[in-house]
Amino acid sequence: MESSIKSKARELGFAACGIAKAGLVDEGTRTAYERWIAGNHQGDMEYLSRHLEKRFDPRLLVPNCQSIIVTAMNYFPDRQIPNDEWQIAYYAYGKDYHTIVKQRLFQLLEFMDNLRKEQGNPASEGCQRVFVDSAPVLERYWAQRAGIGWEGRNHLLIIPGMGSWFFLGLILTDLALQPDKPLPSRCGTCHRCVDACPTGALSLNEDSSTFMDARKCVSYLTIEQKKPISSDISSKMGNRIYGCDSCQKACPWNRFATPTTEAAFHASEALLDMRREDWQTLTPEAYEALFGGSAVKRAKYDGLRRNIDTIAEREKQ
Ligand code: SF4
Ligand code: SF4
Repeated sequence: MESSIKSKARELGFAACGIAKAGLVDEGTRTAYERWIAGNHQGDMEYLSRHLEKRFDPRLLVPNCQSIIVTAMNYFPDRQIPNDEWQIAYYAYGKDYHTIVKQRLFQLLEFMDNLRKEQGNPASEGCQRVFVDSAPVLERYWAQRAGIGWEGRNHLLIIPGMGSWFFLGLILTDLALQPDKPLPSRCGTCHRCVDACPTGALSLNEDSSTFMDARKCVSYLTIEQKKPISSDISSKMGNRIYGCDSCQKACPWNRFATPTTEAAFHASEALLDMRREDWQTLTPEAYEALFGGSAVKRAKYDGLRRNIDTIAEREKQ
């Protein structure tokens, strides 16, 4: 069954698929997460401090959960906004990944259900669930456990030979599947992501692990934070108006990145054509036309407007 699930996942457009045995996360991961929350490093993302027991044990999310199937879908765009124009993070170039990845995971689930029926083990109500950034689950931890990559010093999942431009999606199931072997980190002595971080949100610990202070991260500040962006941070934001890809662009594993075959994740001509003056005169109507069905809707018009005004103001100085 495991190989059938993985080959169906590939057929559905997932670049990688692996299986982990469901259980409690390890003690080190739990302690580090608890310390991070206790230090309020999650900023306004208050949801990250909720449901900690479920976050540390996915079996509490799905009754009798035995296995976690982890999938990764490539979103690396075929064409990019010119470097000297204002930047949007690659993941937000196209349509909202939540919808697309979830649709594919439901197709994978349907395939699994049919296999189960053939084997006389039909799924019972509520014994399987699909998650795409939609529940308290440590996705990158489980992706590493499922053997599809490792969590790099930039705190993103790195898939060997492919890089990190991937959306993760999970299926929690009561099926007791053969788990894959976890992958060790292959960051080695590299710390290019730390060096590339414009605001010091990523810092190197003495043991060569890294610490992430979300409150300094441009991605958090331009998308999640509702307050004005401080002048100290805006002076370091460069030309980023939505998200930040610097710790991924610096990663040597991303030299293996190839453009996604999912047309929905590519940028529209209209987005690629946007210039500073277009951003500055962006109306709510033009915003809707440009970002309808896009992940940029998370920041809403007012959020994007604030980012545009912040960068425009700083560039004037
Ligand atoms: S997304 Fe940008 S600001 Fe955030 S940690 Fe990475 S490089 Fe630093
Ligand atoms: S830049 Fe280097 S240290 Fe950072 S995630 Fe990539 S390989 Fe690891």
